[in-house]
Parts: sequence; C-alpha cells; structure tokens
Amino acid sequence: MASSPKPTPKKVSRSATCLCGAVAVTVTGVDKGAVICHCANCQRSSGSSFAHNYRFLDADITFDKGQDAVTRYEDGNTVNGNVLARHFCKVCGSNVFLQPSTPARMWILHTGGMQDKTQPSRELFTHNKHPWIGDVAASKPKL
Ligand SMILES: [Zn+2]
Ligand SMILES: [Zn+2]
Repeated sequence: MASSPKPTPKKVSRSATCLCGAVAVTVTGVDKGAVICHCANCQRSSGSSFAHNYRFLDADITFDKGQDAVTRYEDGNTVNGNVLARHFCKVCGSNVFLQPSTPARMWILHTGGMQDKTQPSRELFTHNKHPWIGDVAASKPKL
C-alpha cells in the first residue's frame, strides 16, 4: 500500500513595524507559532524579561519599507552555538526580526511590532526564566 503524501504545511503571512515606522516587513512561511524566549540574549536584546517571537519555516521576508533603515547584530554567543542575526531599526532601535543560521529559511518576527495579538504556545530556556513570571504558555522543560 502506497503511503499517502503528507499534507502541504500551511503558510501564513505576518507583518511587523518598528516603533518609528521606518521599517515594515512581511514574513511568509510555514506557521510555527509564537514562543516566549527566556534566554539571556533575548533578555538583553529586548531590554526586558523575555522575548515573544513568532517563528516561520521555509520562509521569505519582504521589506514593505525601510530595508536601508535596518542593521543587524550577529549574535554568536548562543546556547547552541548557532549564529542568530538580530535585525533592528537604525533610527529607533526597535528589534524587528531575527534569522537563525539554522534551520535555513527560518525567520522570526518579534511580536511587539505585529498587529496580531498572538498567544505563545511554548516557552524556551525556562531555566533562565525570571522567577516572578507565571505560566505564560505550556512550558517546554528542556532546550
Ligand atoms: Zn524605527
Ligand atoms: Zn532567546
């Protein structure tokens, strides 16, 4: 009996802008949902207690405006050793999106710049979570 082909993963588009409005991007890819990231680098980069990130696989990014207004920081001091390119607005400093070196064609939008009020489905790096934060999402115990 022949195996049935896997269904084509659903692709979605989400847009985000920075605080000053100089940068606007749209990412289209396979919907991997939103996560809360408690890693030390996201805490420092966001200037907050965690980052709320929306992930897309097999994705493409389109600049609706402001490609020249974006700069990047190559974050090589990550837990898994993979370089994470953190892109932010040169004008206002807002974190807009990230691109990990692996997997290829994965893009991550910071949900703070999105219109959609997405609920996270998982939490990452919970060992580094600030102790006063309650259960934000179904916790993933190890990463
Ligand atoms: Zn800006
Ligand atoms: Zn992180």
